[in-house]
Amino acid sequence: MNIPDPSPTTLASHSACSRRAFLAAGLGAAAFAYTAQAQRADAPARRVVVWSEGTAPVDKVYPDDINTVIAAALRESLPRWTVETANLASTEQGCAQDSLDRCDVLIWWGHKRHGDVKDEYVDRIVKRVTEGGMGFVSLHSSHFAKPNKRLMGTACSWSAYKNDGCKLKIVVKDPQHPIARGLADFTLPQVERYSEPYKVPTPEAVPLEGVYIYPDGKEEPTRVGLCWTIGRGRMFYFSPGHETYRDFYLPEVQRIMANAVRWAGPRRQRTS
Ligand code: ZN
Repeated sequence: MNIPDPSPTTLASHSACSRRAFLAAGLGAAAFAYTAQAQRADAPARRVVVWSEGTAPVDKVYPDDINTVIAAALRESLPRWTVETANLASTEQGCAQDSLDRCDVLIWWGHKRHGDVKDEYVDRIVKRVTEGGMGFVSLHSSHFAKPNKRLMGTACSWSAYKNDGCKLKIVVKDPQHPIARGLADFTLPQVERYSEPYKVPTPEAVPLEGVYIYPDGKEEPTRVGLCWTIGRGRMFYFSPGHETYRDFYLPEVQRIMANAVRWAGPRRQRTS
């Protein structure tokens, strides 16, 4: 699949990548294992916050909103993590500084109320990612969410949006990538189609690609799961997740969410 990238902006990711490569290659295996084991024993539980804006229709598939469904699945698959939910009605819109300071990964689903999120809270999120190493996982219509756009630094627009009953075959493009762990190709039976090009910086990895299959059989390629490193933090964008489809109940999507949290969380070895 050859999808032209519209905006080959370079992110400040090389230092973080180089540091990881150096650590992986340069540390003695025994010392590395000892350090990791000691950290696991002493480390507090890692914490992920699942944020959604509360606009999913209550009479459809997410009566308690999208964040509760994602969080319930993460509690099953990530027993060592503390999993919490937040929304616009939470203290400081779910972006209180002390909460962000204890947050290893923030998952974000927004659609109609992007503009209601206060800029000062967006500043906090961006700083926690770029300076503090917090992971940020952005879902579906969050491509236009303020934190998503600020972290990307581009328009973050797709060329077209259509909800016409097409399917999406998700293709595991990079089986070795942590976000693809345990996954095989699968198909979402109905999706809202976001057409390329997606105006974002060149990702460091695209472990998940896909093919939209129209009702008439026509096919359209797309990127589905995109990864970046931004300063000290990692970011993952996943394009499915429309509020009237059951995507987040599907075991494959739940696995992607868990894999994304594990991948996006700060590398504790960085500070040892
Ligand atoms: Zn949608």
